[in-house]
Amino acid sequence: MQIKITLSLILGITLCFSNSSFANNALVGNEAPQADQTTQQIQVHVSSVSDTSIIEASNQAAKSANIEDDPARLPANIVAPITNVASKKVKVSSAPSKPKNMIIMIGDGMGPAYTTAYRYFKDNPDTEEIEQTVFDRLLVGMASTYPAPASGYVTDSAASATALATGFKSYNGAISVDLDKRPLTTIMELAKKVGLATGVAVSCQVNHATPAAFLAHNEHRRNYVQIAEGYLASDADVILGGGQKYFSDALLSEFTAKGYQHITEFEQLDGITEPKVLGLFADVQLPWVLDDQDGYKLSTLTKKSLELLSQNEQGFILMVEGSLIDWAGHSNDIATAMGEMDEFANAIEVVEQFVRERNDTLMVVTADHNTGGLSIGAHGEYVWNPTMLHNIKASPQTISEELVAVDNWQERFNQLIGFEATTEELASLDAARMQGQKQLYKSILHIIDIRTNTGWTSVGHTASDVQVFAAGPGSRLFSGHQDNTEIATKMMSLLPKALN
Ligand SMILES: [Zn+2]
Repeated sequence: MQIKITLSLILGITLCFSNSSFANNALVGNEAPQADQTTQQIQVHVSSVSDTSIIEASNQAAKSANIEDDPARLPANIVAPITNVASKKVKVSSAPSKPKNMIIMIGDGMGPAYTTAYRYFKDNPDTEEIEQTVFDRLLVGMASTYPAPASGYVTDSAASATALATGFKSYNGAISVDLDKRPLTTIMELAKKVGLATGVAVSCQVNHATPAAFLAHNEHRRNYVQIAEGYLASDADVILGGGQKYFSDALLSEFTAKGYQHITEFEQLDGITEPKVLGLFADVQLPWVLDDQDGYKLSTLTKKSLELLSQNEQGFILMVEGSLIDWAGHSNDIATAMGEMDEFANAIEVVEQFVRERNDTLMVVTADHNTGGLSIGAHGEYVWNPTMLHNIKASPQTISEELVAVDNWQERFNQLIGFEATTEELASLDAARMQGQKQLYKSILHIIDIRTNTGWTSVGHTASDVQVFAAGPGSRLFSGHQDNTEIATKMMSLLPKALN
C-alpha cells in the first residue's frame, strides 16, 4: 500500500498512539494485522521526523490559530515534546490526529490525598479487593502548580487557573493578567478565534477564580462584579453555576440582548435546547452535595453543556470545575469533601462516556492545588476509617446550623450524624454549642476527624504537585511530569487549523 506520509499523518499517528499500548511496543513487530473498518496495519518509516519538526508543526498550528496576534502575551513553549516514532510497524487508527473537542476538568483543591481518600471512601468493604475509581483509571501524570516567583511556591486558585487557561504564571489573585496586570490570551479566546464554542460549568459562583480565569481578565479575583461584566465580552456559549448576586438586572438584560437565555431554576435546563445560556442556580455557590436532595447537580450541568456545545460543528472547549472540594478542604471537613469528590467523579464519568463513545474528544482532568494538607491517617496510628462518612445525612455545616436552633439537639445529632454519640462527645458538643454555630461546626468536624482518624495541616493551600488525568486523542501529551502552564500550552497546540 502506497501511503504518502504527510506531517499530518505523522502527527496523527503520534497522537493516535497516545492512549494505546504503543508505548510498550506491544503493536510493534510481527503481530498479525487486524484490519477492520477503523484500523489498518501499515509500515511507517518516519525516522527523518524528529521531535523538532513536530514542535515546528505545532508552532505553525499556534500561528494559524492567530496566536501570533500578541506574541508577548503567549507562552513560548506552546507544545510539549512528543515521543519520536522511528521506523516501526504501527497500528494506525482512523481516529483524528487532533481532538475536535477538548474538555478540561478542574477539581479545586483536589490534591493526591483527595483522590486517594476517595478510593477508600468508595471501597466496598464486603469485597477483598479495593475497587478502582475513575481517577485511578484515567491517571497519566503530575503537574507542579507554583505561581509566579512574586507569590512564592504556594498558589491560589486564581494564579493556578491563569496558568491553566493561558500558559503563563502570574501572581496569586491574578485573573488571566500578567505581573503588570495586562491581559493574557486565554485558551477560550483562541478557541473562539477558530470558530469553536466555549463554556464553563461549575459548582461555585460562575465568576469565582477558576472559571473567571477562563472567561475574563482582572487584576484581582475579588472584583466579582467586574468579572461578571467581563463575561459579556467572552462570548461564551454556556455559563452554568451559581452567582445570581453578582449579576444585576441591567447586566442580565445585556446578556439577554446578546442572545443569552437566562435561567435560575435547575428544572429550566430541560427547556434549553441550544446555546447560548447563562444559568445561575444559586445566589452564590450551589448547595453542598451532602445537603442536596436531588444531587447530581454538577454532572447534570456537565451533561447539558456537552449536549449544547457539541451542536457546534467546529468543535468546542468546555471547562468543568468541582469547585467546592476546595471549600470543604478550607473548613477541614472530610465528610463534605468526600461528597463533593463523589459528584465531581460523577461529572468526570459523564465526560469519560462522551469521550469513549467518539474518537474526537480529549478530556484532561487536574487540580489547581491542594487544600488543607489532608492526611489519610493521623496521630501516629495506621488507621483511616471512612465508613461512618456514608451514614451522615447532611453536611456538618448544616447539622450545626440546625442544632443551634432546636432544643432536643442530642437526639437530632444522632439522627443526622448516623451514629450514637458517646457521653464525652455530647459534652464537648454541648460546650461548643453554647459558643454558637461556628464552634459547634468545628466540634462536629473534630468528632468526625477523630472517628475516621483524618488529619489536616492547614486551613489554606499546600504546594505538593497535583495529578493529571486524561483520555482521548492527544491524551498521551499529558503523561509524566509537567508544569501546570504546559497543560494549557499542550491544549493550545491541539486547537484546530493546526495543519492548514
Ligand atoms: Zn482554596
